[in-house]
Amino acid sequence: MSTRGHDRALTPAGVVAVHDVTPHMRRISVVAPEFRNLGPIKPAQWMKVIFPSADNGKPAARGYTIRAYDPVIGRIDLDFTLHGGTGPAASWVRHAQVGEIIQLAGPGPGYDIDPRVDNHILIGDMTALPAIAAVAAALPATTRAAIIVEVIDARDEQPLDSAATLDVHWLHSGAEAPGTTGQIELAVQGAGLDYRKSQILLAGEAFMVRSVLTHLLVDRGVPQTSIQSKGYWKKGTPAYRGDD
Ligand SMILES: Cc1cc2nc3c(=O)[nH]c(=O)nc-3n(C[C@H](O)[C@H](O)[C@H](O)COP(=O)(O)OP(=O)(O)OC[C@H]3O[C@@H](n4cnc5c(N)ncnc54)[C@H](O)[C@@H]3O)c2cc1C
Repeated sequence: MSTRGHDRALTPAGVVAVHDVTPHMRRISVVAPEFRNLGPIKPAQWMKVIFPSADNGKPAARGYTIRAYDPVIGRIDLDFTLHGGTGPAASWVRHAQVGEIIQLAGPGPGYDIDPRVDNHILIGDMTALPAIAAVAAALPATTRAAIIVEVIDARDEQPLDSAATLDVHWLHSGAEAPGTTGQIELAVQGAGLDYRKSQILLAGEAFMVRSVLTHLLVDRGVPQTSIQSKGYWKKGTPAYRGDD
């Protein structure tokens, strides 16, 4: 998942719904006439959202995954992890109201499902759950997916819709931020999955992504071409711009 292709102009969009999917995941639905023309949306495609508060005098932009898309009315659903921080996204989403206008740009690229592959492995923390859910929903019935995902606690587990056969391993971070506990790394090492015969999505906290990616490439011999990975945020680093 690269950041290339993210070149569309800013679009003002109105907030039409605010809804807590689980205690630490808030869904914000936005509508704009321009969003009727986004074309086919791939799972894990994302928008750059511009927040009213500022980073060093500049508009504050953060990435959020398109969880659902309705081209008829031009509606996009974004699921925000309520991570408790004071960054512009976290601060805005705590008080977000129907009727507010925010600016979005995008979409950025998503997950390319390889039609030749029967096994998928989707790995991530809570910020990657919207991407994982969207990929699971797009998988064909002939495929299987193993999912390793860390959320805060059992109340943040979500039902995942899919025609594929899913095997979901939920991890709970408790008082720590999902993606920072080391549990994802241990689960990947211990899951007994056939990583070399699978297409893999890996996203979330940047140190975790780097560590799991190294394990898959070096210890497991997974070809780089089978993995689509991206750091979505980095512990202790505001406005992390992401890496692949
Ligand atoms: C392509 C892409 C898609 C993404 N999709 C989603 C998505 O669908 N849903 C989602 O919730 N996030 C998603 N993210 C991650 C989100 O953009 C970041 O978490 C972002 O940093 C939040 O901005 P902020 O203003 O709250 O915090 P920032 O100002 O960026 O950071 C302030 C502090 O908060 C910390 N922080 C940031 N995020 C977290 C976190 N999740 N948990 C704990 N501490 C954190 C930082 O390390 C820093 O110390 C995505 C990121 C990318 C690049």
